[in-house]
Amino acid sequence: MSSFASQADRLAEQLESELESGRRIGSTDHSLEVLRTAWRELDPDSRRSAAPAAEQIAALVSRRPGPAADESARTSREPAVTRAPSAAEEPPLAHEPTAPEEPPLPEEPDWASSQSGSGPSGGGGWARDEVAEAALALQGLENIERDAAVPIRLFEGPADPDALLKHMNYDEFRPGQRDAVAAALEGRDCLIVMPTGGGKSLCYQLPALAGTDLTLVVSPLIALMADQVRRLRSEGHPAVMFASGLSDEVSSASYNAVKDGTARIAYCSPERFGSSSFLDLIATRKIDLLAIDEAHCLSEWGHDFRPDYLRLPRVAERLGRPPVMACTATATPQVAEEIARRMGMDDAVEVHSGFDRPNLSFDTVALEGKGSKARKAALLEFGLKDQANRPAIVYCGTRKDTEEVADDLRAAGITAAAYHAGMAPDDRASAQLRFMEGDVDVVAATNAFGMGIDKANVRSVWHWAIPSSVEAYYQEAGRGGRDGLPARAVLLAMRSDLGRLVRFNEQRKVDPNDVLTYVESLRARTDGDGSAVVDAPRTDSERTRLAVAERAGALTVDPASGSRLLVQLAADFDPSRLAPACRVAEDRGWKAYRAVEAFSFSDRCRRRQLLDHFGDHSEIHPKGRCCDVCDPDGWLPDPGSLAVKKPRSSPKKRGSTPPPDLSAGDEEMYEALRKWRLGAAGDRPAYHVASNRTLIAIATAKPADEDELAAIAGVGPAFMEKYGSPVLRIVSEYS
Ligand SMILES: [Zn+2]
Repeated sequence: MSSFASQADRLAEQLESELESGRRIGSTDHSLEVLRTAWRELDPDSRRSAAPAAEQIAALVSRRPGPAADESARTSREPAVTRAPSAAEEPPLAHEPTAPEEPPLPEEPDWASSQSGSGPSGGGGWARDEVAEAALALQGLENIERDAAVPIRLFEGPADPDALLKHMNYDEFRPGQRDAVAAALEGRDCLIVMPTGGGKSLCYQLPALAGTDLTLVVSPLIALMADQVRRLRSEGHPAVMFASGLSDEVSSASYNAVKDGTARIAYCSPERFGSSSFLDLIATRKIDLLAIDEAHCLSEWGHDFRPDYLRLPRVAERLGRPPVMACTATATPQVAEEIARRMGMDDAVEVHSGFDRPNLSFDTVALEGKGSKARKAALLEFGLKDQANRPAIVYCGTRKDTEEVADDLRAAGITAAAYHAGMAPDDRASAQLRFMEGDVDVVAATNAFGMGIDKANVRSVWHWAIPSSVEAYYQEAGRGGRDGLPARAVLLAMRSDLGRLVRFNEQRKVDPNDVLTYVESLRARTDGDGSAVVDAPRTDSERTRLAVAERAGALTVDPASGSRLLVQLAADFDPSRLAPACRVAEDRGWKAYRAVEAFSFSDRCRRRQLLDHFGDHSEIHPKGRCCDVCDPDGWLPDPGSLAVKKPRSSPKKRGSTPPPDLSAGDEEMYEALRKWRLGAAGDRPAYHVASNRTLIAIATAKPADEDELAAIAGVGPAFMEKYGSPVLRIVSEYS
């Protein structure tokens, strides 16, 4: 593997852990700079082979969490480069954030009147700063700039799905596409839930090319937009894109193509709607379709929530409410409902399709009673000893389990590595690399393993513990068999796992008083008009409190600069509305719990259950074996029949066995923690803050940072949020 690729790999890891934690890591900017330098030193051939790695980085870079301070927002994400021909004074939206996202506009338009071909940077043709070139490459934009001028080929036929399909040189529609295209052509709203790779983009591209009006496509992923625009243009379709990092020539050409009516499809990021000049530009055209990619980012409850998406409902209004096409790969019916509500899609055509992965077979093994953990280990070993089930991923619920499982598999003669976010970056990178290159057959990982990992020949994906939701399960299981060949998904479900999920839910429970306290803390930060700019929520519990407060009418939320939020507190708010809103939030958590419990222990066809969960009620057509219910072929032995090895010799499990006795030094820390707990609990019983067992575990483990603290049994997100820093302070004081 070239050094560029391995550097890119390591950077990808770092970007992924940023995504996982919702926080930027200080060294990432430096690593990105190092990678750019590496790019400069590549010869053309190496650049070509390094392009996939660069695209991966670009995609990750475009999704980075907001920076701590505003200053770096523009360089890393989406600088506002659409310069206006004239500086617009009025705010583009009624509730525009007080902190404007746009940099000061240039006094003189430097390119608006320039014709495509001779840009203002002029003279040098394509000669450009190499750093800029590498940055373009890292954002996936490079080839956009290089595209030879392919003559524009406008569609002039009837607005008919089949004629359009032919125009784009496709032979046939994939499931769901025709319905979506027809709905858009009729001017109806449409909600499309299709898995990645199911062909969502065609659903808006075809209607976009049909008419003379403009289709806007909003997407948060610059690299993916660039890829689509590149493909459309190489076939002569009138597509343009507005993104950071594009040269003046390209931006100018895009601007002119929208203005003079040539462009029929324009891609942009949601941040772009913070630019008044961009809004003025698109106001010159009639918009016949507003397509929103990754629409689940609108869901305030979802883990992918993006504040910038909050702009979209008002953008739609401002544009005269064109038909909206919301596309996503991951929406459950609940999230789909939320998207429709936010975008005001009352009578939308819904297209759910293609959720089935016909080459995957599904097995669920329920394990109960004494010795079930040993039987589980024996089953895993049995399954993985069969070469046909490798390479394999084993998803574990805790970091500790990843290490134990990998150890046990190695002891059984299977090459295996552990992978979790608490490992040193180099160790993680090496585990990933060894798995990707086939040096180890099995990786035992937490859910941190997956994004950006595209290993097509994974033959089985195992779940060592019940995952937190059916969505998470299907996403992880779906990493098997990407090459289309048969692959297995096996869930090893122990009843006792449910306790962990219950605790997780309880920790996330929102109390109306907590929300009220949160609202009051925001109020303390507001200026005269009752508004405050705050960081976007970083933890589940904060996100939930904000969402509940909004749902209860205590405040409204708008995007502000640098991925922050502008919160406007309501003048007259009735706190009695908090309790029902809290119940809704709580119900959501329990609903997810019940769904995954039902999936794990029911006796219905696994595939049917999964598809139903995503609202895909189409017939199933497995290629080969379906699941343990439909085809109980017994490829795995009955767990009860397995000879079980002795339990591990070093039983130092946290949480499930009593912690070791405390040493004198630990005792001191333990007492300090107990004293602190008394104060933290206030009027409540002490165990509301933490159990003795948890305090003992902390005093024994002496966590040095948040990651280590979070890994301790009994320490959940709510604990981290409320008590993480004081506890770490005490630990460092007594260590
Ligand atoms: Zn089945």
